[in-house]
Amino acid sequence: MDFDYDLFVIGGGSGGVRAARVAAGGAGAKVALAEESRYGGTCVIRGCVPKKLMVFASEFAPMVEDGRAYGWDIRENGLDWGQFRGKLEAELDRLEGVYRKLLAGSGVETFDQRARLADPHTVELADGTRKTARHILLATGGRPLRPEMENAALGITSDDIFHLDRLPRSILIVGGGYIACEFACILNGMGVEVTQYYRGAQILRGFDDEARGLISEEMRQNGVDLHIGTNIIGMEEADGGVRVKATNGTERVFEKVMFATGRVPNTDDLGLSGLGVDLGRRGEVLVDAYSQSSVPSIYAIGDVTDRLNLTPVAIREGMAFVETVFRGNPTPVDHDRVATAIFTQPEMGTVGLSEEAAAEQGPIEVYCTSFRPMRTAFAGRPDRVLMKLVVCADTRRVLGCHIVAPGAGEMIQLAAVAVKLGATKEQFDQTVAVHPTVSEELVTMRDPVRKV
Ligand code: FAD
Repeated sequence: MDFDYDLFVIGGGSGGVRAARVAAGGAGAKVALAEESRYGGTCVIRGCVPKKLMVFASEFAPMVEDGRAYGWDIRENGLDWGQFRGKLEAELDRLEGVYRKLLAGSGVETFDQRARLADPHTVELADGTRKTARHILLATGGRPLRPEMENAALGITSDDIFHLDRLPRSILIVGGGYIACEFACILNGMGVEVTQYYRGAQILRGFDDEARGLISEEMRQNGVDLHIGTNIIGMEEADGGVRVKATNGTERVFEKVMFATGRVPNTDDLGLSGLGVDLGRRGEVLVDAYSQSSVPSIYAIGDVTDRLNLTPVAIREGMAFVETVFRGNPTPVDHDRVATAIFTQPEMGTVGLSEEAAAEQGPIEVYCTSFRPMRTAFAGRPDRVLMKLVVCADTRRVLGCHIVAPGAGEMIQLAAVAVKLGATKEQFDQTVAVHPTVSEELVTMRDPVRKV
Protein backbone atom coordinates (compact mmCIF):
# COMPACT_ATOMS: atom_id res chain seq x y z
CA MET A 1 0.00 0.00 0.00
CA ASP A 2 1.24 3.49 -0.85
CA PHE A 3 1.27 6.07 1.91
CA ASP A 4 1.61 9.86 1.71
CA TYR A 5 4.44 9.67 4.28
CA ASP A 6 6.72 7.14 5.95
CA LEU A 7 6.09 8.92 9.25
CA PHE A 8 3.48 11.36 10.53
CA VAL A 9 4.34 12.95 13.89
CA ILE A 10 1.61 14.57 15.98
CA GLY A 11 3.11 17.19 18.32
CA GLY A 12 6.04 19.54 17.74
CA GLY A 13 7.59 19.47 21.21
CA SER A 14 10.92 18.09 22.42
CA GLY A 15 10.32 14.48 21.41
CA GLY A 16 8.28 15.01 18.23
CA VAL A 17 10.62 17.56 16.67
CA ARG A 18 13.69 15.45 17.36
CA ALA A 19 12.13 12.25 16.00
CA ALA A 20 10.85 14.02 12.86
CA ARG A 21 14.20 15.70 12.19
CA VAL A 22 16.28 12.57 12.66
CA ALA A 23 13.88 10.39 10.64
CA ALA A 24 13.81 12.87 7.74
CA GLY A 25 17.31 14.32 7.85
CA GLY A 26 19.34 11.34 9.04
CA ALA A 27 17.31 8.30 8.00
CA GLY A 28 15.93 9.79 4.75
CA ALA A 29 12.25 9.12 5.52
CA LYS A 30 9.40 11.20 4.12
CA VAL A 31 8.05 12.91 7.24
CA ALA A 32 5.22 15.26 8.18
CA LEU A 33 4.47 16.86 11.55
CA ALA A 34 1.38 18.61 12.90
CA GLU A 35 1.55 21.12 15.76
CA GLU A 36 -1.56 22.88 17.01
CA SER A 37 0.19 25.50 19.09
CA ARG A 38 3.82 26.67 19.11
CA TYR A 39 6.86 24.69 17.94
CA GLY A 40 9.16 23.67 20.76
CA GLY A 41 6.28 22.47 22.93
CA THR A 42 6.19 22.51 26.70
CA CYS A 43 9.95 22.67 27.24
CA VAL A 44 10.58 25.70 25.06
CA ILE A 45 7.33 27.63 25.34
CA ARG A 46 5.94 26.95 28.85
CA GLY A 47 8.38 24.70 30.70
CA CYS A 48 12.10 24.24 31.16
CA VAL A 49 13.38 27.21 29.17
CA PRO A 50 11.16 30.09 30.35
CA LYS A 51 11.26 28.61 33.85
CA LYS A 52 15.07 28.54 33.95
CA LEU A 53 15.20 32.13 32.70
CA MET A 54 12.83 33.03 35.54
CA VAL A 55 15.09 31.14 37.96
CA PHE A 56 18.02 33.25 36.79
CA ALA A 57 15.95 36.43 37.09
CA SER A 58 14.90 35.53 40.63
CA GLU A 59 18.41 34.79 41.86
CA PHE A 60 19.70 38.35 41.65
CA ALA A 61 18.07 39.49 44.91
CA PRO A 62 20.19 37.26 47.20
CA MET A 63 23.19 37.92 44.96
CA VAL A 64 22.78 41.66 45.50
CA GLU A 65 22.56 41.08 49.23
CA ASP A 66 25.68 38.93 49.16
CA GLY A 67 27.45 41.55 47.05
CA ARG A 68 26.76 44.15 49.72
CA ALA A 69 28.05 41.78 52.39
CA TYR A 70 31.25 41.39 50.37
CA GLY A 71 31.68 45.17 50.32
CA TRP A 72 29.98 46.23 47.09
CA ASP A 73 27.95 49.45 47.12
CA ILE A 74 24.82 48.36 45.23
CA ARG A 75 21.49 50.18 44.97
CA GLU A 76 18.47 48.06 44.18
CA ASN A 77 15.05 48.99 42.80
CA GLY A 78 13.56 45.52 42.42
CA LEU A 79 12.73 43.54 39.30
CA ASP A 80 11.13 45.28 36.33
CA TRP A 81 8.79 42.42 35.38
CA GLY A 82 7.60 44.13 32.21
CA GLN A 83 11.13 44.48 30.89
CA PHE A 84 11.98 40.89 31.81
CA ARG A 85 8.78 39.52 30.27
CA GLY A 86 9.40 41.39 27.03
CA LYS A 87 12.88 39.89 26.74
CA LEU A 88 11.56 36.46 27.68
CA GLU A 89 8.90 36.58 24.96
CA ALA A 90 11.45 37.68 22.38
CA GLU A 91 13.72 34.80 23.36
CA LEU A 92 10.88 32.26 23.07
CA ASP A 93 9.95 33.67 19.64
CA ARG A 94 13.57 33.27 18.59
CA LEU A 95 13.71 29.67 19.83
CA GLU A 96 10.43 28.77 18.15
CA GLY A 97 11.90 30.13 14.91
CA VAL A 98 14.95 27.90 15.40
CA TYR A 99 12.70 24.84 15.80
CA ARG A 100 10.74 25.70 12.64
CA LYS A 101 13.98 26.19 10.71
CA LEU A 102 15.40 22.88 11.92
CA LEU A 103 12.30 21.04 10.74
CA ALA A 104 12.26 22.78 7.36
CA GLY A 105 16.00 22.24 6.98
CA SER A 106 15.56 18.50 7.51
CA GLY A 107 12.79 18.34 4.89
CA VAL A 108 9.91 17.76 7.32
CA GLU A 109 6.56 19.03 6.00
CA THR A 110 4.70 20.86 8.78
CA PHE A 111 1.01 21.52 9.36
CA ASP A 112 0.15 24.23 11.86
CA GLN A 113 -3.03 22.65 13.12
CA ARG A 114 -4.50 20.06 15.43
CA ALA A 115 -4.43 16.44 14.30
CA ARG A 116 -6.21 13.25 15.29
CA LEU A 117 -6.19 9.67 14.09
CA ALA A 118 -8.86 8.42 11.68
CA ASP A 119 -7.45 4.88 11.41
CA PRO A 120 -4.11 3.19 12.22
CA HIS A 121 -2.49 4.74 9.13
CA THR A 122 -4.51 7.94 8.65
CA VAL A 123 -4.22 11.33 10.32
CA GLU A 124 -7.04 13.83 10.05
CA LEU A 125 -6.09 17.49 10.34
CA ALA A 126 -8.38 20.12 11.87
CA ASP A 127 -9.26 21.47 8.40
CA GLY A 128 -10.53 18.02 7.42
CA THR A 129 -7.55 17.03 5.25
CA ARG A 130 -6.52 13.41 5.60
CA LYS A 131 -2.95 12.15 5.27
CA THR A 132 -1.77 8.56 5.34
CA ALA A 133 1.48 7.29 6.84
CA ARG A 134 3.20 3.95 7.30
CA HIS A 135 3.98 4.90 10.90
CA ILE A 136 2.32 7.44 13.20
CA LEU A 137 4.15 8.87 16.18
CA LEU A 138 2.17 10.42 19.02
CA ALA A 139 4.23 13.09 20.77
CA THR A 140 1.43 15.23 22.14
CA GLY A 141 2.87 15.77 25.63
CA GLY A 142 0.76 16.64 28.65
CA ARG A 143 -1.01 19.56 30.28
CA PRO A 144 -1.53 20.90 33.80
CA LEU A 145 -4.44 19.54 35.76
CA ARG A 146 -6.64 21.72 37.96
CA PRO A 147 -8.28 20.00 40.93
CA GLU A 148 -11.94 19.20 40.55
CA MET A 149 -13.55 21.78 42.81
CA GLU A 150 -15.91 24.67 42.54
CA ASN A 151 -14.29 27.84 41.14
CA ALA A 152 -11.06 26.03 40.23
CA ALA A 153 -10.95 28.24 37.12
CA LEU A 154 -10.06 31.15 39.41
CA GLY A 155 -6.62 29.59 39.78
CA ILE A 156 -3.88 29.82 37.19
CA THR A 157 -1.43 27.06 36.20
CA SER A 158 2.23 27.01 35.19
CA ASP A 159 1.11 27.68 31.59
CA ASP A 160 -0.18 31.11 32.65
CA ILE A 161 2.63 32.21 34.92
CA PHE A 162 4.84 33.40 32.05
CA HIS A 163 2.12 35.71 30.73
CA LEU A 164 1.20 37.71 33.84
CA ASP A 165 0.77 41.43 33.08
CA ARG A 166 2.44 42.25 36.37
CA LEU A 167 3.82 40.34 39.30
CA PRO A 168 1.14 39.81 41.98
CA ARG A 169 1.75 41.11 45.47
CA SER A 170 0.84 37.72 46.89
CA ILE A 171 0.32 34.22 45.52
CA LEU A 172 -0.80 30.89 46.90
CA ILE A 173 0.83 27.92 45.21
CA VAL A 174 -1.02 24.66 45.66
CA GLY A 175 1.07 21.50 45.26
CA GLY A 176 4.29 19.96 46.48
CA GLY A 177 5.92 18.58 43.34
CA TYR A 178 8.92 20.05 41.64
CA ILE A 179 6.95 22.56 39.54
CA ALA A 180 5.15 23.92 42.63
CA CYS A 181 8.39 24.22 44.61
CA GLU A 182 10.35 25.78 41.76
CA PHE A 183 7.73 28.48 41.19
CA ALA A 184 7.43 29.12 44.93
CA CYS A 185 11.17 29.86 45.00
CA ILE A 186 11.16 31.85 41.74
CA LEU A 187 8.31 34.13 42.78
CA ASN A 188 9.68 34.50 46.29
CA GLY A 189 13.01 35.59 44.79
CA MET A 190 11.17 38.10 42.60
CA GLY A 191 9.67 39.74 45.65
CA VAL A 192 6.18 38.18 45.63
CA GLU A 193 4.74 37.13 49.01
CA VAL A 194 4.51 33.35 48.49
CA THR A 195 2.38 30.89 50.43
CA GLN A 196 2.46 27.20 49.50
CA TYR A 197 -0.04 24.55 50.54
CA TYR A 198 0.73 20.88 50.08
CA ARG A 199 -1.60 18.19 51.32
CA GLY A 200 1.16 15.56 51.86
CA ALA A 201 3.58 15.22 54.77
CA GLN A 202 6.60 16.59 52.91
CA ILE A 203 7.24 18.32 49.56
CA LEU A 204 9.01 16.61 46.64
CA ARG A 205 7.55 13.16 47.21
CA GLY A 206 9.68 10.36 45.79
CA PHE A 207 13.02 12.11 46.26
CA ASP A 208 15.50 11.39 49.05
CA ASP A 209 13.94 12.28 52.43
CA GLU A 210 16.98 14.08 53.83
CA ALA A 211 17.38 16.14 50.66
CA ARG A 212 13.75 17.21 50.50
CA GLY A 213 13.79 17.96 54.23
CA LEU A 214 16.66 20.39 53.75
CA ILE A 215 15.00 22.03 50.74
CA SER A 216 11.79 22.63 52.67
CA GLU A 217 13.76 24.16 55.57
CA GLU A 218 15.73 26.41 53.25
CA MET A 219 12.60 27.46 51.36
CA ARG A 220 10.98 28.51 54.63
CA GLN A 221 14.13 30.30 55.74
CA ASN A 222 14.19 32.19 52.42
CA GLY A 223 10.67 33.43 53.02
CA VAL A 224 8.27 30.91 51.44
CA ASP A 225 5.35 30.39 53.83
CA LEU A 226 5.15 26.63 53.32
CA HIS A 227 2.30 24.65 54.92
CA ILE A 228 2.42 20.89 54.60
CA GLY A 229 -0.59 18.71 55.40
CA THR A 230 -2.74 21.56 54.10
CA ASN A 231 -5.15 21.78 51.19
CA ILE A 232 -7.74 24.14 49.78
CA ILE A 233 -11.36 23.41 50.61
CA GLY A 234 -13.00 26.34 48.91
CA MET A 235 -12.26 29.40 46.84
CA GLU A 236 -14.23 32.39 45.60
CA GLU A 237 -13.62 35.71 43.93
CA ALA A 238 -12.84 38.50 46.41
CA ASP A 239 -11.79 42.09 46.47
CA GLY A 240 -8.11 42.06 45.52
CA GLY A 241 -7.97 38.44 44.36
CA VAL A 242 -9.22 35.05 45.48
CA ARG A 243 -10.50 34.15 48.94
CA VAL A 244 -9.22 30.71 49.93
CA LYS A 245 -10.52 28.50 52.71
CA ALA A 246 -7.98 25.89 53.79
CA THR A 247 -7.98 22.69 55.81
CA ASN A 248 -5.80 24.40 58.43
CA GLY A 249 -8.80 26.54 59.40
CA THR A 250 -7.56 29.73 57.74
CA GLU A 251 -9.38 31.96 55.28
CA ARG A 252 -7.19 34.38 53.35
CA VAL A 253 -7.25 36.48 50.21
CA PHE A 254 -4.41 35.96 47.76
CA GLU A 255 -3.98 38.10 44.66
CA LYS A 256 -3.32 34.95 42.64
CA VAL A 257 -3.69 31.23 43.21
CA MET A 258 -1.60 28.84 41.16
CA PHE A 259 -2.37 25.14 40.90
CA ALA A 260 0.64 22.89 40.40
CA THR A 261 -1.31 19.78 41.26
CA GLY A 262 -0.14 17.44 38.53
CA ARG A 263 -0.22 16.95 34.78
CA VAL A 264 -2.15 14.62 32.49
CA PRO A 265 -1.18 13.15 29.11
CA ASN A 266 -2.81 14.73 26.03
CA THR A 267 -4.79 11.81 24.66
CA ASP A 268 -8.33 13.25 24.69
CA ASP A 269 -9.84 13.66 21.23
CA LEU A 270 -6.95 11.93 19.50
CA GLY A 271 -9.30 9.27 18.16
CA LEU A 272 -7.42 6.52 20.00
CA SER A 273 -10.20 4.67 21.77
CA GLY A 274 -11.87 3.46 18.56
CA LEU A 275 -8.55 2.15 17.20
CA GLY A 276 -7.67 -0.24 20.01
CA VAL A 277 -4.74 1.80 21.33
CA ASP A 278 -4.38 0.76 24.98
CA LEU A 279 -4.37 3.62 27.46
CA GLY A 280 -3.37 3.56 31.13
CA ARG A 281 -5.28 4.79 34.16
CA ARG A 282 -4.24 8.40 33.65
CA GLY A 283 -4.93 8.31 29.91
CA GLU A 284 -1.29 7.70 28.98
CA VAL A 285 -0.50 5.68 25.87
CA LEU A 286 0.81 2.29 26.96
CA VAL A 287 3.93 1.35 25.00
CA ASP A 288 6.59 -1.35 25.03
CA ALA A 289 10.34 -0.75 25.47
CA TYR A 290 10.51 0.39 21.81
CA SER A 291 7.71 2.95 22.29
CA GLN A 292 5.28 0.86 20.20
CA SER A 293 1.62 0.96 21.23
CA SER A 294 -0.85 -1.91 21.11
CA VAL A 295 -1.53 -0.94 17.46
CA PRO A 296 1.66 -1.82 15.53
CA SER A 297 1.74 1.25 13.24
CA ILE A 298 1.26 3.65 16.15
CA TYR A 299 4.14 4.65 18.43
CA ALA A 300 4.25 7.17 21.27
CA ILE A 301 7.07 9.02 23.01
CA GLY A 302 7.52 11.67 25.70
CA ASP A 303 5.05 12.88 28.29
CA VAL A 304 2.06 11.34 26.50
CA THR A 305 3.42 7.96 27.65
CA ASP A 306 3.94 9.23 31.23
CA ARG A 307 7.14 7.24 31.75
CA LEU A 308 9.79 9.72 32.91
CA ASN A 309 8.51 13.17 32.05
CA LEU A 310 11.68 15.05 31.23
CA THR A 311 12.85 16.75 28.05
CA PRO A 312 16.08 14.77 27.55
CA VAL A 313 14.11 11.55 28.04
CA ALA A 314 11.52 12.53 25.39
CA ILE A 315 14.42 13.30 23.02
CA ARG A 316 16.10 9.96 23.74
CA GLU A 317 12.83 8.13 23.18
CA GLY A 318 12.43 9.92 19.84
CA MET A 319 15.91 8.96 18.74
CA ALA A 320 15.50 5.35 19.86
CA PHE A 321 12.21 5.20 17.93
CA VAL A 322 13.95 6.32 14.72
CA GLU A 323 16.82 3.89 15.29
CA THR A 324 14.34 1.05 15.78
CA VAL A 325 11.86 1.80 13.01
CA PHE A 326 13.91 3.51 10.31
CA ARG A 327 17.41 2.10 10.79
CA GLY A 328 16.51 -1.52 11.51
CA ASN A 329 18.33 -1.41 14.84
CA PRO A 330 15.87 -2.22 17.65
CA THR A 331 16.85 0.15 20.47
CA PRO A 332 15.05 0.09 23.81
CA VAL A 333 15.09 3.26 25.86
CA ASP A 334 17.23 3.14 28.96
CA HIS A 335 15.33 4.85 31.79
CA ASP A 336 17.71 3.66 34.48
CA ARG A 337 19.67 6.16 36.60
CA VAL A 338 18.53 9.27 34.75
CA ALA A 339 19.87 12.34 36.55
CA THR A 340 17.57 15.25 37.17
CA ALA A 341 17.67 18.70 38.70
CA ILE A 342 15.11 20.62 40.68
CA PHE A 343 15.61 24.35 40.34
CA THR A 344 14.47 25.34 43.79
CA GLN A 345 16.63 27.66 45.87
CA PRO A 346 18.78 25.84 46.85
CA GLU A 347 18.86 23.57 43.83
CA MET A 348 18.75 19.80 44.03
CA GLY A 349 20.56 17.41 41.72
CA THR A 350 19.83 13.74 42.03
CA VAL A 351 20.64 10.46 40.33
CA GLY A 352 19.84 6.86 41.23
CA LEU A 353 18.06 5.61 44.32
CA SER A 354 17.02 7.59 47.37
CA GLU A 355 18.20 6.20 50.70
CA GLU A 356 14.68 4.91 51.35
CA ALA A 357 14.37 3.11 48.00
CA ALA A 358 17.88 1.65 48.23
CA ALA A 359 17.31 0.36 51.76
CA GLU A 360 14.33 -1.64 50.50
CA GLN A 361 16.63 -3.51 48.10
CA GLY A 362 19.31 -4.60 50.58
CA PRO A 363 21.95 -3.44 53.05
CA ILE A 364 23.39 0.02 52.36
CA GLU A 365 25.85 2.51 53.77
CA VAL A 366 24.98 6.20 53.78
CA TYR A 367 27.65 8.88 53.44
CA CYS A 368 26.30 12.34 54.06
CA THR A 369 27.47 15.79 55.02
CA SER A 370 25.66 19.07 55.46
CA PHE A 371 27.46 22.36 55.98
CA ARG A 372 27.46 26.11 55.36
CA PRO A 373 29.29 26.76 52.10
CA MET A 374 32.11 29.28 52.10
CA ARG A 375 30.59 31.82 49.69
CA THR A 376 27.33 32.46 51.53
CA ALA A 377 28.72 31.81 55.02
CA PHE A 378 31.18 34.69 54.44
CA ALA A 379 28.21 36.89 53.51
CA GLY A 380 26.58 35.94 56.81
CA ARG A 381 23.81 33.82 55.35
CA PRO A 382 22.80 30.65 57.23
CA ASP A 383 22.25 28.56 54.02
CA ARG A 384 23.28 24.94 54.20
CA VAL A 385 24.17 22.43 51.49
CA LEU A 386 23.93 18.64 51.48
CA MET A 387 26.09 16.02 49.76
CA LYS A 388 24.97 12.43 50.01
CA LEU A 389 26.03 9.08 48.59
CA VAL A 390 23.98 5.92 49.05
CA VAL A 391 26.25 2.89 48.70
CA CYS A 392 25.43 -0.81 48.32
CA ALA A 393 27.08 -2.59 51.28
CA ASP A 394 27.80 -5.72 49.20
CA THR A 395 28.99 -4.43 45.81
CA ARG A 396 30.24 -1.03 47.12
CA ARG A 397 28.56 0.59 44.12
CA VAL A 398 27.15 4.09 44.52
CA LEU A 399 23.42 3.55 44.08
CA GLY A 400 22.36 7.14 44.55
CA CYS A 401 23.88 10.58 44.69
CA HIS A 402 21.91 13.55 46.06
CA ILE A 403 23.13 17.11 46.14
CA VAL A 404 21.33 20.15 47.55
CA ALA A 405 23.46 23.18 46.79
CA PRO A 406 23.75 26.13 44.43
CA GLY A 407 24.74 24.67 41.06
CA ALA A 408 23.58 21.15 42.02
CA GLY A 409 22.08 20.65 38.55
CA GLU A 410 25.47 21.20 36.96
CA MET A 411 27.23 18.98 39.51
CA ILE A 412 24.87 16.03 39.20
CA GLN A 413 25.29 15.83 35.43
CA LEU A 414 28.94 14.94 36.00
CA ALA A 415 28.43 12.71 39.03
CA ALA A 416 25.79 10.85 36.98
CA VAL A 417 28.44 9.62 34.54
CA ALA A 418 30.22 7.82 37.38
CA VAL A 419 27.00 6.49 38.90
CA LYS A 420 25.78 5.27 35.49
CA LEU A 421 29.11 3.51 34.95
CA GLY A 422 28.59 1.71 38.25
CA ALA A 423 31.43 3.41 40.12
CA THR A 424 32.13 2.17 43.65
CA LYS A 425 32.54 4.31 46.74
CA GLU A 426 36.26 3.46 46.69
CA GLN A 427 36.52 4.78 43.11
CA PHE A 428 34.90 8.03 44.21
CA ASP A 429 37.49 8.16 47.02
CA GLN A 430 40.41 7.54 44.63
CA THR A 431 39.43 10.71 42.79
CA VAL A 432 41.43 13.65 44.16
CA ALA A 433 39.32 16.56 45.36
CA VAL A 434 39.04 19.90 43.57
CA HIS A 435 39.67 22.49 46.26
CA PRO A 436 38.10 24.72 47.46
CA THR A 437 34.72 23.68 46.08
CA VAL A 438 31.44 22.48 47.53
CA SER A 439 31.48 19.32 45.43
CA GLU A 440 34.84 18.12 46.75
CA GLU A 441 32.89 16.62 49.65
CA LEU A 442 31.64 13.95 47.24
CA VAL A 443 35.10 12.38 47.21
CA THR A 444 36.17 13.09 50.80
CA MET A 445 33.43 11.50 52.92
CA ARG A 446 35.41 8.80 54.72
CA ASP A 447 33.00 7.17 57.17
CA PRO A 448 29.36 6.23 56.72
CA VAL A 449 26.91 8.20 58.88
CA ARG A 450 24.79 5.07 59.12
CA LYS A 451 24.44 1.50 57.90
CA VAL A 452 20.93 0.41 57.07
P1 FAD B 1 5.63 18.54 24.68
O1 FAD B 1 6.92 19.27 24.75
O2 FAD B 1 4.58 18.89 25.65
O3 FAD B 1 5.07 18.74 23.21
C1 FAD B 1 3.81 18.28 22.81
C2 FAD B 1 3.30 19.16 21.70
O4 FAD B 1 2.18 18.53 21.07
C3 FAD B 1 2.81 20.51 22.17
O5 FAD B 1 3.48 21.54 21.46
C4 FAD B 1 1.30 20.51 21.87
O6 FAD B 1 0.83 21.79 21.46
C5 FAD B 1 1.23 19.52 20.72
N1 FAD B 1 -0.06 18.83 20.58
C6 FAD B 1 -0.78 18.23 21.55
N2 FAD B 1 -1.88 17.64 21.01
C7 FAD B 1 -1.85 17.89 19.68
C8 FAD B 1 -2.70 17.54 18.57
N3 FAD B 1 -3.78 16.78 18.75
N4 FAD B 1 -2.36 17.97 17.34
C9 FAD B 1 -1.25 18.72 17.13
N5 FAD B 1 -0.40 19.07 18.14
C10 FAD B 1 -0.71 18.66 19.39
N6 FAD B 1 11.86 18.79 31.92
C11 FAD B 1 13.19 18.79 32.13
O7 FAD B 1 13.89 17.90 31.65
N7 FAD B 1 13.78 19.76 32.89
C12 FAD B 1 13.07 20.79 33.42
O8 FAD B 1 13.64 21.65 34.09
C13 FAD B 1 11.68 20.82 33.20
N8 FAD B 1 10.93 21.83 33.68
C14 FAD B 1 9.59 21.88 33.41
C15 FAD B 1 8.86 22.94 33.92
C16 FAD B 1 7.51 23.03 33.68
C17 FAD B 1 6.73 24.19 34.21
C18 FAD B 1 6.87 22.00 32.92
C19 FAD B 1 5.38 22.07 32.66
C20 FAD B 1 7.58 20.94 32.42
C21 FAD B 1 8.97 20.87 32.66
N9 FAD B 1 9.74 19.81 32.19
C22 FAD B 1 11.10 19.78 32.43
C23 FAD B 1 9.12 18.68 31.46
C24 FAD B 1 9.33 18.83 29.95
O9 FAD B 1 8.89 20.10 29.54
C25 FAD B 1 8.56 17.74 29.22
O10 FAD B 1 8.96 16.49 29.74
C26 FAD B 1 8.82 17.75 27.72
O11 FAD B 1 8.50 18.97 27.15
C27 FAD B 1 8.02 16.63 27.05
O12 FAD B 1 8.18 16.68 25.67
P2 FAD B 1 7.11 16.03 24.71
O13 FAD B 1 7.70 16.09 23.33
O14 FAD B 1 6.66 14.74 25.24
O15 FAD B 1 5.83 16.98 24.79
